Amino acid sequence: MALKTKEEYIESLRAMKPTAYMFGERLTNVVDNPRLRAGIEATGATYEIAHMDEFRDLVVTQSPLINEPVSRFTLPPASIEDLVARVKLNRKLGGWVGTCHQRCTGLDCLSTLAIVTYDIDKKYGTSYYHNFMEFLKYVQKNDLTCNAGVTDVKGDRSKGPSDQEDKDMYLHVVERRQDGIVVRGAKAHQTGSLSSHEIVVLPTRAMRKGDEDYSISFAIPADAPGLIHVVGRSTLDMRELDGCDIGNTRYSKYCPTLIFNDVFVPWERVFMCGETEFAGEMVLRFSSFHRQSHGGCKAGKIDCMVGTALMMMDYNGTAKASHLKQKVIDMVHRAETLYGCCLASSYEGRQEPSGTYFIDTVLANASKIHEGREMAEATRLMVDICGGYVADLPSDRDLANPEIGPLVKKYLKGADGYNVENRIKLYRLAEKLALESADTVSDIHGGGSPEAHRVTIFREVNLEEKKEYAKRLAGITD
Ligand SMILES: Cc1cc2nc3c(=O)[nH]c(=O)nc-3n(C[C@H](O)[C@H](O)[C@H](O)COP(=O)(O)OP(=O)(O)OC[C@H]3O[C@@H](n4cnc5c(N)ncnc54)[C@H](O)[C@@H]3O)c2cc1C
Repeated sequence: MALKTKEEYIESLRAMKPTAYMFGERLTNVVDNPRLRAGIEATGATYEIAHMDEFRDLVVTQSPLINEPVSRFTLPPASIEDLVARVKLNRKLGGWVGTCHQRCTGLDCLSTLAIVTYDIDKKYGTSYYHNFMEFLKYVQKNDLTCNAGVTDVKGDRSKGPSDQEDKDMYLHVVERRQDGIVVRGAKAHQTGSLSSHEIVVLPTRAMRKGDEDYSISFAIPADAPGLIHVVGRSTLDMRELDGCDIGNTRYSKYCPTLIFNDVFVPWERVFMCGETEFAGEMVLRFSSFHRQSHGGCKAGKIDCMVGTALMMMDYNGTAKASHLKQKVIDMVHRAETLYGCCLASSYEGRQEPSGTYFIDTVLANASKIHEGREMAEATRLMVDICGGYVADLPSDRDLANPEIGPLVKKYLKGADGYNVENRIKLYRLAEKLALESADTVSDIHGGGSPEAHRVTIFREVNLEEKKEYAKRLAGITD
């Protein structure tokens, strides 16, 4: 059984018993909590579309590892076509859910480990690749969702892991046992950790000699003993709990902080432990894969924003305004350049020694810098086109109130021939698209802060080749 239905996915989460807190209270039922369920539904969409004609060919592929059809979200890319399909799938899904579907980060970890565990074994004769491939088989056979446990809380940013006053600021090994390791620390901003079956941990930065205990990678179930999910607040979270003025009526996103309070990891689930020089390679591979994923899904989110803007122009009677059409074009070209850059990073990919394919890092990082700036611009353009009610629309409860409801409805009417209720729903969607912090801040920081993208570009781009061009034209020969 390699392809779960959405219902089977949700039931599989129901069978798990994670330790989770939200707003100071312990959660006893994660799956039916409306705030978390909206996020689970977004990941559920990745299961649902695998059974839909429109999407099936994009999502379902054959695994050479288990020789069965699997979801692409469990398949490290084995060809240029796989790299391209990742981007196309993310774009379609981004438009389908209008937020983050939360399943790409796990795939980005799996793709990274399919490359780096092989490289470590080649140097040290370890058995991480074997451990990882056994884990991957389990993930594929059960169509599991993995979370990316990458970003440490990091304490004082001017100090490395071993120099921190509190040694737990970066996740690290506190005990080595015959059967495994015990780890302590915390990972921040864990997108969809409670929508995931497995937490896959990678280091958040390059490490030096002396940082051996921090140079770790492993996977554990999301309900492993000692693991605590503390769900973070985001701007519109109360709307889902309240069941009113939700905006995106189907999907949302949430990001817990994940505390590893002395968590045991058996050796067969360990993919790196102490090989400091490979931490940097893991970070580079993961962040580049993840920046490529972002470009696909965020282009899809702009597609949603363009649709919202165009419909609002109809509802407001501004469909013929040429300056608004220009602004729609400006939104579309931002989506297309983002998408194009990610596709290019895929077409320029190459095969690594393990057989897994990797993207062009410079193009992937260029796309992420573009995203950080241009998603904000696309959002600004959508808000400009839609109007001020993106900010302060009366509640659906006002509309339902028999005293003021009819008056509110009367004054919220737009162009003739369009239903006022639909105009209200569309404003609410525009608000969610523009102002949900869990989404919009990820445009900037998701996959690493903007400076990290620049540093990667400068390190990875062929600077010497560019100097040679200049030297040749200037006639410089030494
Ligand atoms: C919505 C959202 C979802 C996310 N999802 C995930 C996820 O699923 N899994 C995951 O692992 N991570 C996730 N992330 C984390 C993301 O990768 C980090 O937010 C990002 O790497 C930045 O790290 P930070 O938040 O600790 O900020 P910081 O690292 O503190 O950065 C803040 C600023 O300080 C600068 N800075 C930091 N350190 C230094 C230094 N030493 N010298 C000079 N400048 C410095 C940075 O460049 C940046 O401008 C998510 C983030 C967001 C916002």
